[in-house]
Amino acid sequence: MIKTEKVLHLKSSRGRKVRVVREHYLREHVPCYSSLCQAQCANAEGKVLSGEVTHYVMPDAGVARDFMEILEFREIQGIVFTQTACQAVQHSRGRRQYNRLRSLLKDPRHHCILFANEFQEYSYCPREKGEPQDKWQTRCVYHAAVWYHDHLAGLKPVVMITEDQTAVAEYSSLNCGVYVLCTQEYLQTFWPELQAALELYCSIAQSLQEKGSEGTEREYTEHLPAEVLEAGIKSGRYIQGTLNVNKHRAQHEAFVRFEGSSNKSSELNSDVLVCGGKNRNRAVHGDMVAVELLPKGEWRGRTTALTEGQGEEKGDETQSQPMATGRVVGILQRNWRDYVVTFPPKEETQSQSRNSQRILATPWDQRIPKIRISTQQADKLQDHRVIVRLDSWDSTSLYPNGHSVRVLGRAGELETEVQTILIENCIHVPPFSEAQLGEMPVSSPESPWSVDPAEVITRRDLRQTHLVFSVDPRGCEDVDDTLSIRSLPPGPRGERLELGVHIADVTHFVKEGSLTDLEARARATTYYLADRRYDMLPAVLSADLCSLLGGVDRYAMSVMWDLDAQTLAVNKVWYGRTLIQSSYQLYYELAQALLNGEEAEVPELGTIMLNTAEWRGGRGPRTRQLRAQRDKGGALELEGVEVRAQLDEDRNITALVPRQPLEVHETVAECMIYANHWVARKIQESFPQQALLRHHPPPRQEFFNQLQDSARARGFTIDTRSNKALADSLDRAVDPRDPLVNRLLRVMATMAMSNALYFSTGACPVDQYYHYGLALDRYTHFTSPIRRYADMIVHRLLTAAIAMEKGAGPAKALASNKELEEMAQQINNKNRAAQHAQKVSTELFQCLYFRDKDPETDERCVADAVIYTIRANGMLVFIPQYGLKGAVYLKNREGQVVSERQDGGCDWQTGSLQRYLDHITTTTAAGTSTFNLFQHITVRISVQLSRCHSDTIRLEVVSNRPHQAPETQVQTSQPQGARGRSQLVQEVVRQAEEASQQAEEKRGRASKLSTEEREFRQSKCPNLYSLLEEVRELALLDLAAS
Ligand SMILES: [Zn+2]
Repeated sequence: MIKTEKVLHLKSSRGRKVRVVREHYLREHVPCYSSLCQAQCANAEGKVLSGEVTHYVMPDAGVARDFMEILEFREIQGIVFTQTACQAVQHSRGRRQYNRLRSLLKDPRHHCILFANEFQEYSYCPREKGEPQDKWQTRCVYHAAVWYHDHLAGLKPVVMITEDQTAVAEYSSLNCGVYVLCTQEYLQTFWPELQAALELYCSIAQSLQEKGSEGTEREYTEHLPAEVLEAGIKSGRYIQGTLNVNKHRAQHEAFVRFEGSSNKSSELNSDVLVCGGKNRNRAVHGDMVAVELLPKGEWRGRTTALTEGQGEEKGDETQSQPMATGRVVGILQRNWRDYVVTFPPKEETQSQSRNSQRILATPWDQRIPKIRISTQQADKLQDHRVIVRLDSWDSTSLYPNGHSVRVLGRAGELETEVQTILIENCIHVPPFSEAQLGEMPVSSPESPWSVDPAEVITRRDLRQTHLVFSVDPRGCEDVDDTLSIRSLPPGPRGERLELGVHIADVTHFVKEGSLTDLEARARATTYYLADRRYDMLPAVLSADLCSLLGGVDRYAMSVMWDLDAQTLAVNKVWYGRTLIQSSYQLYYELAQALLNGEEAEVPELGTIMLNTAEWRGGRGPRTRQLRAQRDKGGALELEGVEVRAQLDEDRNITALVPRQPLEVHETVAECMIYANHWVARKIQESFPQQALLRHHPPPRQEFFNQLQDSARARGFTIDTRSNKALADSLDRAVDPRDPLVNRLLRVMATMAMSNALYFSTGACPVDQYYHYGLALDRYTHFTSPIRRYADMIVHRLLTAAIAMEKGAGPAKALASNKELEEMAQQINNKNRAAQHAQKVSTELFQCLYFRDKDPETDERCVADAVIYTIRANGMLVFIPQYGLKGAVYLKNREGQVVSERQDGGCDWQTGSLQRYLDHITTTTAAGTSTFNLFQHITVRISVQLSRCHSDTIRLEVVSNRPHQAPETQVQTSQPQGARGRSQLVQEVVRQAEEASQQAEEKRGRASKLSTEEREFRQSKCPNLYSLLEEVRELALLDLAAS
């Protein structure tokens, strides 16, 4: 080993230049991490570059610093990052960018490695006196490239890429087999099909070029240096928190929410208000900032008047008392993500771009400021939605600078809008790569998958001994749960029963740390949008090998209880891997018929019928008892909704029919809850510090105010002190004349609840493990590993627990408490994003459906609505026919109020408005109109169009009487809600397809964009599950059913 000195010139956070001398050790052996290595490098630890590429590419420091986004393309393989380049990123781009590079290097889905060139004796070159840093860095990388090429005995050409033209001239012909190219030429030569990378390159280069031409006039106060901020936060002078912009007043109002308890000024117990752009000082929604409080005389109040679209927020304030108000003095961490923006129309760009190439584009998210983008494609991009990234926001610039990354398509088109929703929710669902699919077992009609005899002997074989079945809707493809039940020989304490829950053994096929596993972990869940879904796992698993279909052998993870037949007390529980063959997929109705002892006229069921006496006689009442046991503890039934799905021969859902709860569905749900609970117990007992559980914190009492007020209006008292009390009082709150009231109250109770969340057992005290909604002391998710990553983690924990019991150590070290807690947070975040994306996509379809209809003449725009909340200047209503919720305003900007005419119709007149607990009245010269809670009214639906943001639905009162449907619309046996909703989605999809077909015909060929978009779509059919979820609320309010 050779010791030498290395001189670094660093910039301190105050901006001073600092010279640092470091001891530097050189070694002869530094791993190359190439599979072509001829010199026995110690490559075993870490990723190794494949030899199956045409060349290796080595970016110099400048390229790594400025163009890392291009190197992030997974298609670009064989990247060797030098230590020199990595350090340049670390020093000039900060921690966040450096962490991004490090995770790239760790991620096996990216073919790149780190070569520690500066520790390698023969590739290191000391900096010469007077040599500029960038020249030296480029020289270092070139030397590294030469060494690397020689080290691999010239087996692979090495391409160094640089933005330095003199380096290209100087080095390109020095060594045979080592090429030096500028980035653009490299992309054009080696990746001509990767057009997106080249476009991104041009966009970044343009933005870098324009950076030099910044103005000098200061628009904002400079941010304070990091150490000043740090000291100020410690001393309590500044407050640290996350900036939250008010969506409805994005330019004027933002709040800083505290992080932790570092805040020492005890008088502060609320958020800090930040008014206006100057005080916000370039902080962007989501950034971690430091704020300084203004003198109390300058404190302001929160704006309180309700604006359109604000009606959905919880609680409304009536007063605007001055609150802590401050200004941003520094940014502790930028939390910028990818943003979707809309480019302005031509007229605007022409006036904007008179003296620059910069265009001001408007983000889809109203909380994000306009972004300046340097582009030469302003014409091409007008009225398009484009993904952009922010680069910088200097104090001399009114707006932040950014560059475009990818064009999504024309604003307003279905595919563009759906992709926008995904990007805005940070949902990345590219098609599964070939490498990922390569890990999957083969199963095709020619070579069907079959069980492995070696695997069979390690599993408990239930194929001959147990009658296993699933209870799924007709046509269901991904069956991940099945049940079994049988009597056991009587024990010393009497009759015994065995209940089994068998779940698809997904983790048998998806090994921890494999490419598929990493992808599933990153997605965390299957995403369900209004018209499609994006699976968490490749279809060969979710729709085939891990779908527990009837009549085929499948691997399963099972929980089996040995129960006392009378008391249902658990004698013994068995957990383990099994081999099953499901006998039948029972449809809900069929299963119910069997449960009721009715004859089912399905010949295939003949064989089962002989065996069902056992479970038919036993299971129904018994799971009812399981339920009763939980009820004693106070289990809440919130949204118990049953849906019958009708499918045609192509397995398309033609209708969803909400109906009275079927006992059999509850039975199945109860068995699954039971399994989740017992698995939670098992893994928590085995790994008290590192098991993944799911808890449901008790709700905050103030969220129940609305529920209690509404119930009181109908003479009911809702007791929310415990979930038992809540469940009991909800059960009592039944209006015999109107079953809707009870259902509505349950919806409100659900809305008041907090979300259930995953956590690691070591990160939370035991008394907080409780699941409020299910009234269980421990709970987890075990039963849906096909579509939830949490369940895969739990399956692995259960496998490890079983192994430990047998005395064997786990095959792989378990995640630590800290790692597991991080994973739990990641999954919680993704679930939130999934829910939000689903909600927004539903709203998108509603807007697309109504957009082209004339609200004045089209009778589909007039519908019946139910008032479910009274607000200060209007009310919130639900429209069962379209599953639509929204605000109806009774007072407009001109101060007019809605007034009822003699015939029941409504119009705007001068008058006043009075709000009461359970109703709201308007008074005009013509008289008084009253709108009661739970009343049916008639509304007109129209769409408020927006060019840059999402369109919104507007509702207006037509009459305060129920809507009379025209005679032609004959009431069918199908409830309107279900039919309206699925028809709505289908119609929008059909229109979008026709429109894109026409557009393609016009262009004469399929556009590049739409092929790209098509790849995004993994499945086109509406998925039953998503519709089930969606239909919940609508079924609750379905009138036709009652
Ligand atoms: Zn080597």
